[in-house]
Amino acid sequence: MQKLEQVYEGKAKKVFRTEDPEAYIVDYKDDATALNGLKKGTIRGKGVINNRITNHLMSLLEKGGVPTHLIRELSDRETLVKKVEIVPLEVIVRNIAAGSLAKRLGLEEGARMKRTVLEYCYKNDALGDPMVNEYHILAMDFCTREELDLIAKYALRINELLTAYLREVRIELIDFKLEFGRTGSGAIVLADEISPDTCRFWDSVTHEKLDKDRFRRDMGGEEDAYKEVLKRLLGE
Ligand code: UDP
Repeated sequence: MQKLEQVYEGKAKKVFRTEDPEAYIVDYKDDATALNGLKKGTIRGKGVINNRITNHLMSLLEKGGVPTHLIRELSDRETLVKKVEIVPLEVIVRNIAAGSLAKRLGLEEGARMKRTVLEYCYKNDALGDPMVNEYHILAMDFCTREELDLIAKYALRINELLTAYLREVRIELIDFKLEFGRTGSGAIVLADEISPDTCRFWDSVTHEKLDKDRFRRDMGGEEDAYKEVLKRLLGE
């Protein structure tokens, strides 16, 4: 499958049209941004690692009954995906308090909560991705009631599947961000990526951070951390 013209360039990926009107090619970059685009840099090898990790985890989710946009991996950095219209929401699932939630609620990072928390943010860079609730989502017509219920159901199922899977390789799933899309036939599917850019992964034993927080917080060692996650998941 050949890349035709570029239809979109995001912070971490480029998207290209293909001869198949229902399929796009995603091309993962090494570019990294944080603080709503204020901090920019590169993490060497990140594109290759995130492509492989995302496809590995999406295949696992498909087997667990969650539909995704994945068609097939084409190369180190490129994957063929179903063309979707992205629902303009960042769906955040949190098992342990960290990042903006710890700050907002005055919790210690790493604090366990009584149950999983689901949050929605409106995907809009100019507004800084503001948090919204179900009323805002329906009032703004970001998706329908039925679609939102399905998105919440899939998000919680994804959390169950990933938490159990990652535990086997000594990774604790602290929190993560998902995006969903609508296919040509109107089905809701998981889109975007699932990688150390979009998840907080802590070593279960040492609590060492194995994710983008190393870049966000200028801790260093992000390349090795991403490689470590790839190795634990795919043995590479
Ligand atoms: N996240 C993301 N993209 C964003 C915002 C958050 O992938 O634009 C992920 C982030 O990696 C973390 C989770 O969503 O796993 C929760 O992030 P949080 O709201 O705590 O924001 P942050 O502290 O990352 O700014």
